[in-house]
Amino acid sequence: MSFPDIVPELKTKMPELRGRLLANQSLDELTWFRVGGPAQAFFMPQDENDLAYFLQNLPAETPVTVIGAGSNLIVRDGGVPGVVVRLGRGFNEIKVEEGHRIAAGTAMLDVVVARAAQAAGIAGLAFFSGIPGSIGGALRMNGGAYGGETKDVLIEARGVDRQGNIRTYSNAEMGFSYRHCGVADDVIFTAAVFQGRAGDSVAIAAEMAEIKSKREKSQPRNRTGGSTFKNPPGASAWKLVDEAGCRGLKVGQAKVSELHSNFLINLEGASAADIETLGETVRERVKAHSGVDLEWEIKRIGIIPAK
Ligand SMILES: Cc1cc2nc3c(=O)[nH]c(=O)nc-3n(C[C@H](O)[C@H](O)[C@H](O)COP(=O)(O)OP(=O)(O)OC[C@H]3O[C@@H](n4cnc5c(N)ncnc54)[C@H](O)[C@@H]3O)c2cc1C
Repeated sequence: MSFPDIVPELKTKMPELRGRLLANQSLDELTWFRVGGPAQAFFMPQDENDLAYFLQNLPAETPVTVIGAGSNLIVRDGGVPGVVVRLGRGFNEIKVEEGHRIAAGTAMLDVVVARAAQAAGIAGLAFFSGIPGSIGGALRMNGGAYGGETKDVLIEARGVDRQGNIRTYSNAEMGFSYRHCGVADDVIFTAAVFQGRAGDSVAIAAEMAEIKSKREKSQPRNRTGGSTFKNPPGASAWKLVDEAGCRGLKVGQAKVSELHSNFLINLEGASAADIETLGETVRERVKAHSGVDLEWEIKRIGIIPAK
C-alpha cells in the first residue's frame, strides 16, 4: 500500500530544508515489532533549527507523528498519513556536565546515557540501561525500570512545537505521571538534561549488569513492544492477563509471551492487525474475568487498511 506523494509539494514550500524528506518510506524495520505500513512522508531533520523550519512551513492540516527507537510502538498496516519525523545524527550529542549532570540529544539511546553516566561515576541513571528506547521516547513515556523513572532525574527538556517554536520545559512543566508526559502530543523533544549524584563506577557497572541479567531471564527481547498494558492502580497487568488465561494466547502469528504475560510477540509474519487484535482480545478477557479495564501502554499509530 502507498499514499499519494506529498514530498515534491513540501519541498517547494521549504527551499532551505537541509534534512532528508522521503515519500512512502516503510516503517516496519524501524520498530521492534517489525510490522506496519509506510509513512506518507518521512523526515529526518539535520538539527533542531531544521526541524523548526520544517514545522513552521508545513501546512497546518498535515499531521505530524514522531517516532524514536520504535520499542513501544505498533505501526498499523495502513501506514501513517502525513509526516513521520525521526531524529538521527543531529540529535545524539552527549555531554557530561558539572554537578553530576548529563546533557543528551533525544535520538540517543537510553543505554548509552546510562553507560556515559557510569563511566563518569554518576549514579542514579543506571535504570536507563534496561529500557531499549531513545531519550525522546523516555521523555514522552516517562520511561522507568527497577525503581527509577525519567521524572526522578530530569532537570529540563527542550522541544519544538507544531508551529515550530523551540522552548524549554522544566521537570514540573513536563507533567509527568506513570508512563505519561503531560506536554502537548505534538511537541517533539530534542534534548534533555539529567541530574545524577556522585557514585562509584565499579558499583554502577555491577548494578547495570544485574539489571541486564534480570531482564534476560524475565523478558523476551525480540519482536516485542515491551509492557503492553499499564499496571492498573494497586495491581499488576501481567497477573491480570495470566489469571484471565491469556498466557500463550495467539492471534495469527502474534502471541502473548510465555515468559512474560504482559509482553506480546511477533512470531515472524504477524501483521499489525494480528498484534492489535490479540491485545484487544486480552483486554476483553481480562475485563470479563476481573472487571478491570486494561489501558494500552504501547502506542498505536497509523491507520487500519480498508477491507
Ligand atoms: C524488551 C522491551 C523492554 C522494555 N522495558 C521497559 C521498561 O522497563 N520500562 C519502560 O518504561 N519501558 C520499557 N519498554 C518500552 C519502551 O522501551 C519505552 O517506552 C521507551 O521509552 C520508548 O522509547 P522509543 O524511543 O522506543 O519510543 P517509540 O516507541 O519510538 O515511541 C514511543 C512514544 O514516544 C514518542 N516519542 C518518541 N520520540 C519522541 C521525541 N523525540 N519527542 C516526543 N515524543 C517522542 C512517540 O511519538 C510515541 O508516542 C520496553 C520495550 C521493550 C521492547
